[in-house]
Amino acid sequence: MIPTILKAGGRVLVKAKVDKILVNEKTMKVEGVVMEKSGLKIHAPLVISAASIMATCSLIPKPILEKMEIRKILTEKEAKQGMCHVIVFVGFRGSSKELNLPSHNVWVLPCDKSCNVGDMCENYYKDPVNAPQLAFIGFPSAKDPKYEEKHPNKSTCCIITESKYEWFEEWKNERIRHRSEAYQALKDQFSGRLLDTLFSLYPHLKDKVDYVDVSTPLSSEFYLGAPQGSSYGLAPSVKRYSGGMDYLRPSTEVDGFFLTGQDVITCGIAGGIMSGILSSFAATGYPTFMDMLTKRNLFEDMLMMEERKKKKQKEREGGERKREKKRQRERESEKERDRVEREIENKYPFLLVVGLMVRDKEKAGVFSISVLYKKRKRKAEMEGEKRREKVRNEKEEETKIAKTSSLPSLLPFALILPTSGTTSSPKLVPLTHQSLSLSISRLSPTLSLSSSSDHVLNMMPLYHIHGLIVNILVPLCEGVGVTCCHILDFQQIVREVIGRGEGEKVEEGEGEEEGHKKGRKKGGKERVTFYSASPPIHMGLLEETEKYFLEEEREEGGNRRKEWPIRLIRNCSAALLPDLATKMETIHGAVVLPTYAMS
Ligand SMILES: Cc1cc2nc3c(=O)[nH]c(=O)nc-3n(C[C@H](O)[C@H](O)[C@H](O)COP(=O)(O)OP(=O)(O)OC[C@H]3O[C@@H](n4cnc5c(N)ncnc54)[C@H](O)[C@@H]3O)c2cc1C
Repeated sequence: MIPTILKAGGRVLVKAKVDKILVNEKTMKVEGVVMEKSGLKIHAPLVISAASIMATCSLIPKPILEKMEIRKILTEKEAKQGMCHVIVFVGFRGSSKELNLPSHNVWVLPCDKSCNVGDMCENYYKDPVNAPQLAFIGFPSAKDPKYEEKHPNKSTCCIITESKYEWFEEWKNERIRHRSEAYQALKDQFSGRLLDTLFSLYPHLKDKVDYVDVSTPLSSEFYLGAPQGSSYGLAPSVKRYSGGMDYLRPSTEVDGFFLTGQDVITCGIAGGIMSGILSSFAATGYPTFMDMLTKRNLFEDMLMMEERKKKKQKEREGGERKREKKRQRERESEKERDRVEREIENKYPFLLVVGLMVRDKEKAGVFSISVLYKKRKRKAEMEGEKRREKVRNEKEEETKIAKTSSLPSLLPFALILPTSGTTSSPKLVPLTHQSLSLSISRLSPTLSLSSSSDHVLNMMPLYHIHGLIVNILVPLCEGVGVTCCHILDFQQIVREVIGRGEGEKVEEGEGEEEGHKKGRKKGGKERVTFYSASPPIHMGLLEETEKYFLEEEREEGGNRRKEWPIRLIRNCSAALLPDLATKMETIHGAVVLPTYAMS
């Protein structure tokens, strides 16, 4: 029973006598118990007393008890304590098997030929010291299959006879184990006769006795907390079983306080168990009217709970397996990210995105960013002690920043991106160096930018991931130059940036690789060959470009359309309508890549 209680998260206290049951007098609600020795208050919304009814009454504060029906037991004439016993405990040298001890009980009823047990008992109670003595003999060690394992070469016996509390009552106030000789002498008389009965049936046990101890009703009172040493609690009486003491039931007038144990139902172990069942029903609120209609009961519900618990356990185990698989996948993708990052590092050893500076942290969502590029020494220089030294310095620097900065949590991230929340609420998305590196490495091959013939124009705002990655980081990693527009003045962009150097001579041959024929320098200046933008920018730029070309046609002989340097345009951030894409291809004479989102 104790392991079951512990398994369910309960605790079992032994040698822990309750001194008082705490009840709120105003609300008549139970509040817990007070322990006798320590005075400790254990608060509880539910208290069930398994102590005898008499003992329980003595624990309830008087003003409360007066309001309860169970107080009647204290003045009830027929509420006497039931029968008591004298028990002789005997220990033998030798196992039960060696001593041939039976596992069944033996009842000794020494009656005359008439076999009138009633008369025999009457005689015994009149003269317990001299009249034939009834006895029960049992060998607990022979009943326990594990006894030999636990106590090798030992066996036990208990011999019991009935007794009355009054026979020993005069010594009740003496200290246990230090009672007067007369008490000891009476005990010896009982035990001597009981041992004689034992040896008359099992003579071979006489010289195997190792240990003898005797208990009386005073011992039961002290050790078992049984009022007047009664083994079976309240004496059975007609009144008790015919409804005259119907206050002996689990529920009481105190909210949350219940009774249980043999006194509530009937004596003996079966009575104790039955009252436990009834009390648990009462305490948990079973059975309601609906429970009766639906034939629902506590035990089936408990069985169902057990089933549910097992099912949940299985689900948890399944969930754990799934989580482990997910962790495994994450570990693998982490490895893959590291590998790609290393690849990028090897490919572009001269660049390192070192961080993001937040200029105005007071204005939520408005971040003035500046990505710092740090020239990285070539891989060869980073090797060996120098490299380790560098790493150490970097770490120290990071720690210093972390200590002094008011934004230490930003350190692990390369960038914190405010998004307008197309699909959900607006949010800040922290991006790591790894994820930026990964995006760069995935996008770079789709653009095939060449450091010798390409130049990129960025018209997107820098707080937008599209412009930042495609127009800035990808070209810079490829060693390609970038021009950033401060304001979106399409007239100026078309005339002074893209069509820059009009009339100047093109230096033929320079940067004329296969597939990059348009990437030429004009007057030694870089000319824009690629840009990525969103549809409204394309439209603005297209309109201005058309005007620019028309002017030229009117002037005759110009080369504007022919020398237009843009070879590749990428669309992102919103869907590109096919009509616009076709027009862009025709006017710019460029390949148009329609994409949506970073991937
Ligand atoms: C020698 C002997 C042989 C028996 N043989 C049989 C048999 O063969 N068959 C059978 O059916 N029955 C037998 N019985 C009776 C059986 O043991 C009882 O009927 C049964 O134990 C009663 O159970 P219970 O839970 O009502 O009370 P108990 O088992 O008496 O439990 C009540 C508990 O409350 C505790 N308590 C009291 N006051 C306080 C307090 N203030 N604070 C904290 N705790 C307190 C007590 O210490 C005790 O542990 C025998 C009894 C004895 C003594």
